[in-house]
Amino acid sequence: MKVLVAVKRVADSNVKVRVRDDESGVELAGVRMGINPFDEVAVEQAVRWKEQGVATEVVCVTCGAAACGDALRTAMAMGADRGVLVETDLGFDLLPLHVAKLLLAVIRREQAQLVLLGKQAVDDDCNQTGQMLAALLGWPQATFASGVEIAGGRARVRREIDGGSETLSMPLPAVITADLRLNEPRYVTLPNLMKARKKALATLRPAELGVELSEHLQTLRVTEPAPRAEGVRVADAAALIDVLKAELAR
Ligand code: AMP
Repeated sequence: MKVLVAVKRVADSNVKVRVRDDESGVELAGVRMGINPFDEVAVEQAVRWKEQGVATEVVCVTCGAAACGDALRTAMAMGADRGVLVETDLGFDLLPLHVAKLLLAVIRREQAQLVLLGKQAVDDDCNQTGQMLAALLGWPQATFASGVEIAGGRARVRREIDGGSETLSMPLPAVITADLRLNEPRYVTLPNLMKARKKALATLRPAELGVELSEHLQTLRVTEPAPRAEGVRVADAAALIDVLKAELAR
């Protein structure tokens, strides 16, 4: 079973990003970047399947500027076999539908039987790409996966839902999006990063994939969240209850 994993390069989640002065977006120049945390979980899952003999090959794909190749090197250092960079230079930000169309073309080329994505990218919080991709492929999908077993040509997926979990069974090929509870990704070691440099990284352009992309959404304004009001220090629990009652009465 060939597994394809979509990884997005995003600002490191430990870095506090700053909104640009013109409110056109966040400033990413000079910011430490890394793999989207949900995608790290997806890569870890695919690599474990490779180690267990469930997957025959793990191919990671990213769409974006040439620098996004870093994310693929990290994924390969975790154990992915090779990477595909779909290099875009469109003059506008890639949106989930753009990414889904590019991934669709790569999946058709690669003939993958299972596609793993993160449940959402922590930069735009869209939570759309996996769902759109499944629709374009016409494949079944299981989102927010916190456990996956592959057997007999089917995937059995435990999903995180409000107040509990749900277990689904679906035939392969399929699309699965990973929740953080699926596993704990391994650390990337320097020797493995060095080894990953020798792994194959192919670069493709959207035109080579037969995909034409156009801008269909415009970001009008990005703003900082409102600053939090200053807190109140109370002497004891009784005083806290008085403060809460006063808040409720307001
Ligand atoms: P989103 O729908 O933007 O929240 O992203 C959901 C998932 O789609 C991410 O966790 C990635 O697995 C995948 N994805 C989104 N954008 C990209 C991209 N530019 N390149 C590769 N994968 C992506």
